[in-house]
Amino acid sequence: MKEKSYVMVKPQFANSKMVIEEVTKRLQNAGLKITQADFVRYDAKHAQQHYHEHVGKDFYPNLEAYITSDKAYGMIVEGENAIATIRTLVGSTKNSAPGTIRHDIPVKLGIAPRVTENVVHASDCVEAAEKESAIFNDLVTEKQKWSAEELADLEKY
Ligand code: UDP
Ligand code: MG
Repeated sequence: MKEKSYVMVKPQFANSKMVIEEVTKRLQNAGLKITQADFVRYDAKHAQQHYHEHVGKDFYPNLEAYITSDKAYGMIVEGENAIATIRTLVGSTKNSAPGTIRHDIPVKLGIAPRVTENVVHASDCVEAAEKESAIFNDLVTEKQKWSAEELADLEKY
């Protein structure tokens, strides 16, 4: 079944051209197509919408602090079974295995894989993909109102 998913290279990692290229390459090599991609900056409101099911959990304050700490790189990704395919490429939330994005990229950067400060987000179901893509598009629209200076800061690696 052809599906759409939302993938986000999280802050800090989105500052690295190598990371964005590596994530892009892994998605494309799996036969998936990136139909939209942009740098966005999550604020607390959009972070709470995106991570709605986690608001109130013990780790949420750290998660929100991380996700709002710098720019992120959002992507709409399409293809056969895109959601499950991408979740496999991404790896598990804890103890991600070698061969997955969440394991391999920190290792390549010389850092240990971490649970909260992981490399990417990927939608876990069709409804989440739709919701998360709408939040991303809201941020893209807000960005269009930014000054040239703010935009230059967001785009630079
Ligand atoms: N997270 C965390 N501690 C946990 C579980 C999750 O900090 O015990 C963070 C982590 O960044 C994760 C995000 O919260 O990617 C969302 O959690 P979820 O369980 O939905 O994991 P995911 O779907 O991203 O694998
Ligand atoms: Mg999740």
